[in-house]
Amino acid sequence: MVNIEVSQVATAFRARFGGNTGIASESLVVDGTPEQKERWLPLLASGRVTGCFALTEHEAGSDATALKTMALRTGDDFIITGKKCYITNAPIADLVTVFARTDPYSTGANGISAFLIERGTAGLSTPPAYRKLGQHGSPVGEVLLEQVRVPASAIIGGVEGQGFRTAMKTLNKQRINLAGLCVGPALRLVSEMVNRARTREQFGKSIGEFQLVQQMIAESNTEVHAARALVLETARKRDAGGDVTMEASMCKLFASEVCGKVADRALQVFGGGGYIADNVAERFYRDVRLFRLYEGTSQIHLVNIAKRTLAAADAGRAL
Ligand SMILES: Cc1cc2nc3c(=O)[nH]c(=O)nc-3n(C[C@H](O)[C@H](O)[C@H](O)COP(=O)(O)OP(=O)(O)OC[C@H]3O[C@@H](n4cnc5c(N)ncnc54)[C@H](O)[C@@H]3O)c2cc1C
Repeated sequence: MVNIEVSQVATAFRARFGGNTGIASESLVVDGTPEQKERWLPLLASGRVTGCFALTEHEAGSDATALKTMALRTGDDFIITGKKCYITNAPIADLVTVFARTDPYSTGANGISAFLIERGTAGLSTPPAYRKLGQHGSPVGEVLLEQVRVPASAIIGGVEGQGFRTAMKTLNKQRINLAGLCVGPALRLVSEMVNRARTREQFGKSIGEFQLVQQMIAESNTEVHAARALVLETARKRDAGGDVTMEASMCKLFASEVCGKVADRALQVFGGGGYIADNVAERFYRDVRLFRLYEGTSQIHLVNIAKRTLAAADAGRAL
């Protein structure tokens, strides 16, 4: 609900605190030890500490299990070496959750652990933020790890080899948040389209009187209602303790695709003005493009939904 409200105004501002209350703390919420939770969660929730979630690498994007960052044990410590890319809030983070391979002989999802690493730890650095298409207020960058020494107590949950499961549990919830984050801009853009259609006149009447413009508004409003209903229904099911692994993927896929379509139509309703920098439609068009890419691309969610739908059918469960 908070994501739906805040993202109607600024998706970049949402990323500033939403990283903290979402992926940067959810690993601790789902798998942290009581000591880790007590130490970090109040600081993250209040914003006194900024966190980030560093999973992606150049060779490990959609297939995050291909990650190569290594954490080798020496006595009671681990020495971590690797490079993470495209990490939201990395340039300003005080606390980095790093996913690294603690079993050098493992492949895939096995042998990965999640480490909490504080800024200032020798060998950890974050280059300046990338230039990017949208969400300019949200810094995204790399995390470089060169022989970073951390104690074994920095592993989330204190258990080696559980990191990939922790990442998946974190993203599972986050996908519902992200879908809410897609509904907000779409709602805002429907109202911006209506305002524009009422006030802009061509051929002696407001453009809202043309049925082809009305079609863009009607399709957008219908899809936004459907996306919001799916997100809220899935959130209710999760709050009631249900397994929403497949529905979370559906929410992320559907809401991000709807948001992209609505942003495209909004720009169309604004005409040439919509293409000019700093117009509300132009900003949202750039800002929301990201939603179809991160936390699982649309293609990855389609693959996931198909796999789970087929498995449910094979097992005779409700689809
Ligand atoms: C601004 C921004 C912020 C980000 N923030 C974070 C963050 O905070 N933490 C973090 O860890 N990561 C973050 N990411 C990374 C993001 O999650 C990845 O970019 C995303 O998972 C896609 O990986 P990739 O970029 O390597 O694309 P690729 O995996 O190379 O995909 C390229 C294309 O191939 C398609 N494709 C790949 N595999 C398949 C398949 N099996 N079937 C069908 N199609 C497929 C994809 O759908 C896509 O269209 C961020 C990215 C961006 C751009």
